[in-house]
Amino acid sequence: MHQDIAYVLLEHDQITTRVRELAQQIDRDYADVDELLLVGVLKGSIMFIVDLARSLQRHVALDFIAISSYGQATETSGVVRVLKDLETDISGRHVVIVEDIVDSGLTLAYLRANLQRRNPASLRICALLDKPERRTADVVIDYLGFHIPNEFVVGYGLDYAERYRNLPYIGVLRPEVYRGR
Ligand code: 5GP
Repeated sequence: MHQDIAYVLLEHDQITTRVRELAQQIDRDYADVDELLLVGVLKGSIMFIVDLARSLQRHVALDFIAISSYGQATETSGVVRVLKDLETDISGRHVVIVEDIVDSGLTLAYLRANLQRRNPASLRICALLDKPERRTADVVIDYLGFHIPNEFVVGYGLDYAERYRNLPYIGVLRPEVYRGR
């Protein structure tokens, strides 16, 4: 385990197993749909969207959107801004937003409303992690990997100041790592 990690919350195997289950659920729900468009929210969802896409049986198109994040802080500012928009016209498409973690829910509430205005045939949300204690915005997560406690986590795509994304597991960052900055 990395020295900056207090403890491992989800081992890589647990994540992989759950991602496969989510893919099966999505495959079942979209059995009549020829092609799905997965929209990954950069950068935290990268590992998740790749593993999810690999487990899906149907045609999958990928696109990415980047929105303003916390920067180097560990709490949201509540202000959401599109930094990089989609390359695809999503009107008439079956879209699934793929997000790493839902905390206050502000990011997803904004994204959902933003993409809904572009008239997709359907729009659902798939998130790997949920911290329900912290929710302030009203968002429905259609496909959820895991509920987690209110701790700041990194790994499997999730970062702190661009570090730790490459860890294969999801772990709780030692508070002294971010307090020390
Ligand atoms: P929300 O808008 O729901 O408060 O925040 C969602 C975003 O905050 C996520 O996409 C993620 O970028 C970031 N975030 C929230 N909690 C954590 C966490 O525990 N670890 C990391 N690395 N990012 C988090």
